[in-house]
Amino acid sequence: MATQASNIIDVTQIRPRRPGQKATVQSLVRLESPPDLQQLSTLLQTTLELDEMLRLFHEAIAVHLPVDGLVYRHAELGLVLQQGLIGCHSASYALSLQHEALGELSISRSHPFAEQELATLEHLLCALLYPIRNGLRYRTALASAFLDPLTGLNNRAALDRALAREVELAHRNDLPLYLLVVDLDFFKKVNDQYGHLAGDCVLRSFANTANQQLRQSDELFRYGGEEFVVILPGTDRDGALMVAERIRQQIASMLCECEGITIPVTCSIGVAALDIRDNAHSLFDRADKALYQAKHTGRNRVCEGWGLKAGARG
Ligand code: GH3
Ligand code: MG
Ligand code: MG
Repeated sequence: MATQASNIIDVTQIRPRRPGQKATVQSLVRLESPPDLQQLSTLLQTTLELDEMLRLFHEAIAVHLPVDGLVYRHAELGLVLQQGLIGCHSASYALSLQHEALGELSISRSHPFAEQELATLEHLLCALLYPIRNGLRYRTALASAFLDPLTGLNNRAALDRALAREVELAHRNDLPLYLLVVDLDFFKKVNDQYGHLAGDCVLRSFANTANQQLRQSDELFRYGGEEFVVILPGTDRDGALMVAERIRQQIASMLCECEGITIPVTCSIGVAALDIRDNAHSLFDRADKALYQAKHTGRNRVCEGWGLKAGARG
């Protein structure tokens, strides 16, 4: 097992080379000039996008030794990125920097790596550590910009992006699309009566319970305050009304235990179908109007959006 370590950089090979691999391919090692780590590191730091960074790294190592491709994995982030092709011989490394795990990188090709090639590879890998750490931090920061910290749901910014994408897809593929806008009833009273922490707890309980009523392709967002939105792609009218009614019923019967107290809660839901003339804004507007109808006709109910029905799909 080949290991390279210094005070601050830790590159550990976690999978030994295949048994029987020998330094027989010396002639293939193209060490025309020794790899300049500083230069490579500067090049890799020109981007924070991991895909692009791995493409640059692949290109850079190909100057020094023949490789078919590489695969980068970060299990915790559910990340798998590939550059080039996967060969049957690989050298795999667990990357870490100052005790921070940075994922695994596997470099492969169709024939075994020689000792000297592995040494070159491990040398080059040192230039990848800081850029990859920065890329991972950037990715995490970007993801958190689309998350609501209280409920862990996707937030309003994520909704804007997702709704525009789903509306476009539904129009292009002539598929039905339904939208639910959900608002908790008399939520101000929950805060007034039980306190804001209990109110927060109710919002989290709502998010969990509502999520359990959805398929994997459906998406739940916290729009803001005590308002939530569900996008139901490829769902027809019966399916959308069924989901809305199920959410309403489950919330009404939910035993919301917060701070040792059981808090009763209900919600009102507006439902709207995507019409051929709709954009994201007009679809949302119709679902929102239906929500207000549900509020004004007694709350704890589901109402369907009016207008544009003739062209609605599903
Ligand atoms: P309605 O049935 O008409 O929707 O009445 P409501 O009381 O639910 O609506 P209103 O808009 O009057 O009150 C919403 C409340 O939600 C007021 C606000 O303080 C509370 N709220 C918004 N965001 C949060 C939050 O993150 N945590 C807590 N605890 N309360 C929040
Ligand atoms: Mg409300
Ligand atoms: Mg509201």
